[in-house]
Amino acid sequence: MQGNTENLCSICRRREAFFLRLYSGERLCKRCFIHSIENKVRVTIAKYGMLDFNDRIAVAVSGGKDSLSLLHILAKIEKEYPKASMVAVSVDEGIRGYRDEALRLASLSCKKLNVEHHVISFKELYGYTLDEIVSRLKESGLEGLTPCAYCGVLRRKALNVIARKVGATKLATAHTLDDEVQTVMLNILHGDVMRIIREKPITNEAWKFVKRVKPLCEIPEKESALYAYIKGIKFQSMPCPYSSEAMRNDVRIFLNRMEEKHPGIKFTVLRSAERIRQALEKIEPKIKLRECASCGEPTTREICQACHLLQIIK
Ligand code: SF4
Ligand code: ZN
Repeated sequence: MQGNTENLCSICRRREAFFLRLYSGERLCKRCFIHSIENKVRVTIAKYGMLDFNDRIAVAVSGGKDSLSLLHILAKIEKEYPKASMVAVSVDEGIRGYRDEALRLASLSCKKLNVEHHVISFKELYGYTLDEIVSRLKESGLEGLTPCAYCGVLRRKALNVIARKVGATKLATAHTLDDEVQTVMLNILHGDVMRIIREKPITNEAWKFVKRVKPLCEIPEKESALYAYIKGIKFQSMPCPYSSEAMRNDVRIFLNRMEEKHPGIKFTVLRSAERIRQALEKIEPKIKLRECASCGEPTTREICQACHLLQIIK
């Protein structure tokens, strides 16, 4: 009589499968699952030319599952390149009871992996914590401006500042396939199609901007979480108290439902975005960067968006 081979891993054919990857039909054991994720990241890096053999890579770590999975995967890949180096960078927005805990977990992973960890805070860079910004917005009746609107812009700038400070040649962020396709859909829903150009897996060379790369852009969020669980990575799972991205949540639910019914559809959206991007790049004029008149950081306007937002609450 033949043994039951139905639930064996489709790669090693020896160990029991624990995960069914619906979009590829593979059944994977834990070990082959981990290898498949690490290999997929290697393939993505090569496909988009994300990293050079002698890069100094700054990995943006927030303390959540995706960024800590990315840190572990890149730490492993980086060892294969003796001329490359890696450092972790974090932004402390100043959200009491939330980010402090996440940063503690981020620093724990860094210690374990023997990776330098640098933190920059909103307070030191802008003079206010996000908590203080939110109080000011409430006091002045500016509640139409959400904490996330401030946080997103200020964090983007802070990451660029810290990446330059540590001498990074690349800044790796942990955007997953889900983040990427949600953003594409949101850009379309907001009528902001030209933004699709900017949300690339790898940004163009630009003055004073450290090139950004997204090595997890082809890894579904569910798999990045599973990677962290299997590896026993401690991450923060509590949501941010200011989280108010109602529309993104609707899009997330919609895409997850579509993925359940039509496995692989998120990858189809990603490919569509690539084609839209290629078409748009032909008609979009080259963006000219200049120095922000207030802080000296690169911007397309006279005053950068971060300085503009800070002026509103002063
Ligand atoms: Fe910042 Fe909003 Fe994210 Fe909280 S949910 S960390 S406020 S962007
Ligand atoms: Zn500025």
